[in-house]
This record gives sequence, structure tokens and C-alpha cells, in this order.
Amino acid sequence: MSTQTYDMTGLQQTLRERLGAHCVSVDEGVLDAHACDWSDAEKRRPQLVVMPRTPDEAAKALGMLSKLGQKVVVQGGLTGLAGGATPQANEVAMSLARMNAIEEFDTIGGTITVQAGLTLEQLQAHVEAQGWFFPLDLGARGSCQIGGNAATNAGGNRVVRFGVMRDLVLGMEVALADGTVLTMMNKVTKNTTGIDLKQLFIGSEGILGVITRLVLKLEPKPTVSNTALCALASFEAATRLLKELRRRLPALSSFELMWDDFMSAAMAIGALKPPFTTSSPVYAIVETLGASEEGERRALEEALEHALENAIVEDVIVAQSLDDAQRIWAYRETVGELLGRLKPHAAFDVGLPMIAMDRFVTTMKTTLTSRFPHQTHLFFGHLGDGNLHLLSGPYADATAMHEVEQLAYEEVRRAGGCISAEHGIGVVKQEFLHLSRSPEETDLMRKLKTLLDPREILNGGRLISEPVGESTSKNS
Ligand code: FAD
Repeated sequence: MSTQTYDMTGLQQTLRERLGAHCVSVDEGVLDAHACDWSDAEKRRPQLVVMPRTPDEAAKALGMLSKLGQKVVVQGGLTGLAGGATPQANEVAMSLARMNAIEEFDTIGGTITVQAGLTLEQLQAHVEAQGWFFPLDLGARGSCQIGGNAATNAGGNRVVRFGVMRDLVLGMEVALADGTVLTMMNKVTKNTTGIDLKQLFIGSEGILGVITRLVLKLEPKPTVSNTALCALASFEAATRLLKELRRRLPALSSFELMWDDFMSAAMAIGALKPPFTTSSPVYAIVETLGASEEGERRALEEALEHALENAIVEDVIVAQSLDDAQRIWAYRETVGELLGRLKPHAAFDVGLPMIAMDRFVTTMKTTLTSRFPHQTHLFFGHLGDGNLHLLSGPYADATAMHEVEQLAYEEVRRAGGCISAEHGIGVVKQEFLHLSRSPEETDLMRKLKTLLDPREILNGGRLISEPVGESTSKNS
């Protein structure tokens, strides 16, 4: 881990005087806890951690830091996989963990106003207790924050029905780098009052401003969920099954694909039993969420029976209880443990046209197993969204890992896909951004960055590269 040596006492004192001692920490344990996200980006302690308790405090802190030219990294739940929240040299961290209040809950219209540091799981539990449902869901739900979800435009397991984070945000408040507060707390679905500025900040990975408050769109809480695990002979069969289920099941909410290698690794790391007596090349977890206990279950069973009769699926388990459903999801939920076990790893979250996905998997499997036979290469994904994950590792040697990244991203480009469909660019994919975005697009992104953060204090060196001559710290 890198350490910084220069004196931060002056800055610390100023921040303490103006924000209160409770807002600033240089405690060793706190610095360590804020030294990295979940990626393999190089760990580095921040100079200090600013922990505002309210959106106003966050804006005030930014205004002060900006005046001092002090670089800042924004930190949500630190579950990001792109290194965006990992501190870089001479940065202080702004942690939003304390800003987790639920400010307003419209239980008639189904919207909720929350501060950005609320965790996804806290939000889910809160709204479900009152008959509403926030559909975004991902394995990191216990730690990731709503602000982080918006900053990365998170996806997850239910995108096939409810869309990505961008589709769930109605309004937002942002503190710009100089402390200016941009209030865009829209609460209605239809709003044609000009450019929808909040969209600029969704998916911008904190380089344009700090998201401090959000208005979120809720769904009525489903009362019934049905889950099934399908064994499939091929990827092509999976695409046929998805089409069939989409046609027959309006309540379809998840369609998660796992290739056989992933399944074996999941069983090994999670000490899970094989679901079927024989193994199959591909597996799909299917879930419906709705309100009609009998009707939806019957519809799912009929659809799967039809798929069995037509040899679209080889075998099926339909969960008979919540425990069964959890046992099915347990295979997919081993991802967190696998990420840990395969470190240092190359973790991909690429977007691919569905028509190109099978070829991508076959090509990459063949290339990686022959080139890197001692590493594990696991494929899984959210088929309905064209989002494929590849987890490959461990790589003790950074050059080897880089080679894997080059191979995969070049193949993505050839397939007409995008290098990130979920986790964002951060630092780990920055050098490959040109494979997915044109020079004109990155140029416009840079102009927006310069417009909103002319002193380059916020999340510098992430997503887009720094302008020429700006790569050294502005600290003096
Ligand atoms: P952080 O990691 O703290 O930050 C991520 C980026 O957003 C950084 O650039 C940071 O500077 C910026 N940021 C954070 N908060 C703010 C804010 N309030 N304002 C401005 N910028 C901010 N992602 C998916 O999309 N789908 C998945 O299915 C999924 N599954 C995962 C499973 C596991 C086990 C893990 C570890 C991660 C998974 N992720 C997934 C990745 C990660 O959880 C998401 O990217 C998540 O949205 C990050 O939220 P966070 O609060 O942890 O953000």
C-alpha cells in the first residue's frame, strides 16, 4: 500500500474548524478502510476522510476543498469494481456513508426521497415494509449506496423487466466541485421542461459532481415470486428460452445465465450440491415477480413444460419454497466469494449484441484456456440485457492480466459491443475506453468535465484521461 508523507495538518484543521471535528478523520483504521474499492486497483490511503452528515455539509466541504485546489475522491459503499473510488496520490476521500437519511416517502404515488449514502438494502427493506418495491438488485446490496448506484448506472439481476438505475431515478441533487448545489428534485415521470440534466450525472462515475440526494421511482411490492433453474444444451437454447418466456410471462423479472465452468466453481466455493444428476453446458435462473400466486406459478410451469417438450431445456427445477429459491440463487450469489478467491483477477462486464455473445464466449474460452491454462475463466451474465461477465484469474503477473484485457476488449470491439455494461470505466478500463467511445465523444466528455470542474479536483484521472499537463497533483 502506498503511503503519503506530506503534512495535511493545515487542511485538517481548516476542515475541522469549518465543518466540525466529527466530519474529518485521520485515524489509521479509518484511512485503511477507505483505501480501496473491490477492484484490484492499487490500494492507497487517502490523506484524510471527510464524512459529511448532510448534503449541505458535503457541498460546503467541496467548496472549501475546491478553493484550496485539494483533490477529492468520492466514496460510496466502495463495492465498485472499476477502481473509481480507490484514492489516488494526494487525494482526500469524501465518504457519503453518514448521509443515509430517508427524507420523504410518498406512499400514494410511489416515490421516495433519500440521501445518497443510504445502502441499497436499507432502501429495499424500508419501502417493502410499506408495500412498495425498489427493483434494482445486485449482490453488493448490503454495502453499495444509492448514490454509488446512480454514479455507476448500476444494473443487476432485474434489468430485463425494470431497467437500469437510470430508469429508476426521477430527481437528483448534485453538489458541484466548487460547492454549488444543483437541485433537480423532480418527482414526476413526465417532465418536458428542457434538458434532463440529471442524466449527465448518472453513470458519470463522480467526475462531474457529487450526488447528494435522489428521488426514486418505486413499484408496488410484488407479493409472489417464482424461481426456476433450467439446464440447457447450448447458448442458442438459452436465447430461445428467453424469447419464449418473454412472450408468455409478463411477470418475468430475471434471466441469469451461468456457463458450466461457473457452475462448477460456484458449487466448489459455496459447498453447494449439484442441482441436476448430470451437468449441462449452460444454466439459466428464471424468476417472476407478481401478485397472482396460482396464476403466475401455473404460467411459469406451463412455459417450462412447453420448453421441455420442445427440447429447449434439458431439465428444470421449479422452487417449491423460499428456501428452494434461495438454494437456486445461491449458485449465482457466489460471485462475491469468487471475486475474492481469484484475486488478482481480470473482471469483465461487457455489453454484447445477443447475436454475438455465443461466439465471444467460445472464442474467449478457447483463447484463454490455451494461453493461460493455470488460471480459471468463468462466464456468466444477464442474458436479457446483453451483459456478459467474465472473471479470469488469479494473475500474479500484471502483464499477463493486461494481455487478457486486450484480448477480451478487442474481441468486444469486433463484436460491436461495449467494454462496460455495468461497473463503469474507473481506472481499470480507462485505456480501453477508445474501443467503445469515439474521440468526438470523449472530447465532449472532457469539455463537460472542464466546464463543471475547471480546477480538476473531483475524481481526477478516472473515466476519461486527464488533460495534458494536469496529471500531477495541484497540492502545494
Ligand atoms: P463506490 O464503489 O463507492 O463508487 C463507485 C464510483 O461511483 C466511484 O467512481 C465513486 O467515486 C462514484 N461515486 C460513489 N458515490 C457517489 C456519489 N454519491 N456521487 C458521485 N459519485 C459517486 N454492479 C452492477 O451494476 N450490477 C451488479 O450486478 C453488480 N454486482 C456486484 C456484485 C458484487 C459482489 C460486487 C462487489 C459488486 C457488484 N457490482 C455490480 C458493482 C458495484 O456494486 C456497483 O458498481 C455499485 O453501484 C457501486 O456502488 P458503491 O456505492 O459501492 O460505489
